[in-house]
Amino acid sequence: NRQILLASRPKGEVTPENFRLVETALAPLTDGQVRVRNHFLSLDPYMRGRMNDSKSYAASQPLDAVMIGGTVGEVVESRNDHFKVGDKVVGMGGWQEFQTVDATQRGVLQKVDTTHIPLSAYLGAVGMPGVTAWYGLVKIINPKAGETVVVSAASGAVGSAVGQLAKARGARAVGIAGGADKCAYVVNELGFDACIDYKQHGDVKALSTALKAACPDGIDGYFENVGGYILDAVLLRANAFSRVAMCGMISGYDGQPIPMAAPQLILVNRMKVEGFIVSEHMEVWPEALKELGGLVAAGKLKYRETVAQGLQSAPEAFMGLLKGRNFGKQLVKLVG
Ligand code: NDP
Repeated sequence: NRQILLASRPKGEVTPENFRLVETALAPLTDGQVRVRNHFLSLDPYMRGRMNDSKSYAASQPLDAVMIGGTVGEVVESRNDHFKVGDKVVGMGGWQEFQTVDATQRGVLQKVDTTHIPLSAYLGAVGMPGVTAWYGLVKIINPKAGETVVVSAASGAVGSAVGQLAKARGARAVGIAGGADKCAYVVNELGFDACIDYKQHGDVKALSTALKAACPDGIDGYFENVGGYILDAVLLRANAFSRVAMCGMISGYDGQPIPMAAPQLILVNRMKVEGFIVSEHMEVWPEALKELGGLVAAGKLKYRETVAQGLQSAPEAFMGLLKGRNFGKQLVKLVG
């Protein structure tokens, strides 16, 4: 079983030396255990925070342990009555090819139905990123028809779903993304009303001018994934009583300071700003996954994947995710 361990904690940007690839033997199963061949590993921005040992909302990843991560795969051996060989499952299998778990613990593995939904989608649009989009949009922004919702990292796993869910509720969806290709995709494939390339508008003034053109009625909801001057520019166009779902601030994950230029705008505009962690809202997952699954199965919720091949490619792909080299949900294919 090939595995990738956390070898050292990054100082600033992640480097290949922070990871170590090892091979370990698989032990025979004991009663209650299930062995899963992981088919896809999900790479997610939160993993960067777990690599630090500083205090956060979640415990840090221990050194010399398998990197944590969501996986989908197939049961290849079972000593548990609830799982049989061939079952497709989603779980937190980590950066490794096989996962051996005590499946008597509730929730460690969830069976998934791949009749109408591809297995990999359970790590994206019909998984944690999809529910994240759903929670921030529905529970925090709660857009009314005709309102304008802006989302940053708009072509990504979370952002792409935010805009499409906003459109489905009759709102106007405006994305912010890095590069002309990503912006073209967001408008032409995902159906957003507009998308701004922040790399072409590289400071608050330029970006707020572009936002003014794309959002003639101002901004009623902002789904924040990035932070920094992108947030500053949005605040300048925010309407009174607008809502901000604080989902992520990826521009600061390597430790860069992310100052806010004009926090008084939150007061001036009487805004609601709410941070959230999707795993703390398990009560909404069934409802959210039902809507997301239905939309994906019907071809109404589109998504894109960037798939790295083989476990050994995971570190490089992860570093790419933190630099915007992914286009859509970043996965690692672990079989075939
Ligand atoms: P994405 O698929 O959106 O990939 C990350 C994207 O972030 C990149 O493609 C890039 O897009 C953008 N990015 C990376 N670095 C920077 C930077 N320095 N400045 C601006 N943009 C950058 O990832 P996810 O959809 O999985 O995650 C999106 C956000 O949601 C993250 O902030 C993540 O931490 C957060 N999140 C929060 C959760 C919660 O419970 N609160 C749960 C899941 C995710 P581009 O090229 O367009 O810049």
